Amino acid sequence: MASANDTAGMPAAGPGLGGLASVRGHAVAKAQLARALERGQLHHALLLVGPRGVGKATTARAIAAALHCSVARGRGCGRCSACQRIAANLHAGVEWVAPEAPGGKIKVELARELAARLQLAPFEGDAHVVVFDPAEALTEQATNALLKTLEEPRPGVHFLLIAQALDGILPTILSRCAIVRFGRLDDDEVAATLGDALVATPPPEPVPPSRQALAVRMADGSAGVAITLALDASLDAIHDLVRAAAAAASAGEAEIFGGDATPLGQAWSAATAGPTTGKPARERAAAQRLAELWLLDLRERIRGRAGLPELPAAAEDRAGLLRVTESLFAMQQRLDRNANAKLSLEQALLEIGATQRRSRADARA
Ligand SMILES: [Zn+2]
Repeated sequence: MASANDTAGMPAAGPGLGGLASVRGHAVAKAQLARALERGQLHHALLLVGPRGVGKATTARAIAAALHCSVARGRGCGRCSACQRIAANLHAGVEWVAPEAPGGKIKVELARELAARLQLAPFEGDAHVVVFDPAEALTEQATNALLKTLEEPRPGVHFLLIAQALDGILPTILSRCAIVRFGRLDDDEVAATLGDALVATPPPEPVPPSRQALAVRMADGSAGVAITLALDASLDAIHDLVRAAAAAASAGEAEIFGGDATPLGQAWSAATAGPTTGKPARERAAAQRLAELWLLDLRERIRGRAGLPELPAAAEDRAGLLRVTESLFAMQQRLDRNANAKLSLEQALLEIGATQRRSRADARA
């Protein structure tokens, strides 16, 4: 039996390297899969469905490791040659089928070729795992080419289909799959997964704890989103910009139009720094990101949760928060129409300041 201690002295385990036990969260799904794997009764076609970035692909890799592991069959040890090669996408008994370009479709020719080839599987060991990622990319034609083998594959052949929602999946696929549901991770699980990822693949520059915390809060239960955000150094400048913009809105016109020397002016310069070429586009991008980040803060507060770190609430009550949200949506629309970014921001900050004064006056009345 493998235990967590078996990996002592090994290189830092990447997500999924140590089998199902190393997948964060999803206790119900993991228990269901572990039982089936240990009994050798895993359904031959599993549809792993849930939001993006919560660990579906990691789980697929862990299932493949459990099926191929030479040390802890049915569990995955994380250290044998099979487990390590699966974690590195180098195992001949696990193939990922994806569209040629993101957002594209899985071609019928590819599906036909796969269906023919699977008549001879398994090729390495006694299992062969085919992962469709995303399963939404399977066209009706491609699905039809695969239906027979999807319904009744050769012994040892397993299909793992990854999808964000059931409504994107053709009924002919759905009826042949067992469904395993994935929910959003909680913030602690996202933070732990982010920590795993930064250890497994250290970025060139260390990620400051403040950005990690911000990325976790922004990710809304998706570890994949948190990892992308944490690696984005420009997020720090946008976070500063949101704080400066919020302070300027509360302070009023003198701070909003105070020029480059004000905290807002300095944060704006830092967030939009770069060559003169492309400056308007860069300014619009900064203003868009400011709006997205501030809207996230407002969404959390409207839900009754804590806002972003170091950012005071833009309004005291729900009605005020919703009005601030409207001002930021209007700003986003102006930016989408290529309006001047600084002017769009100033207009939004004036409106937000007015909302704040009105809600203070309402509170006094
Ligand atoms: Zn192993």
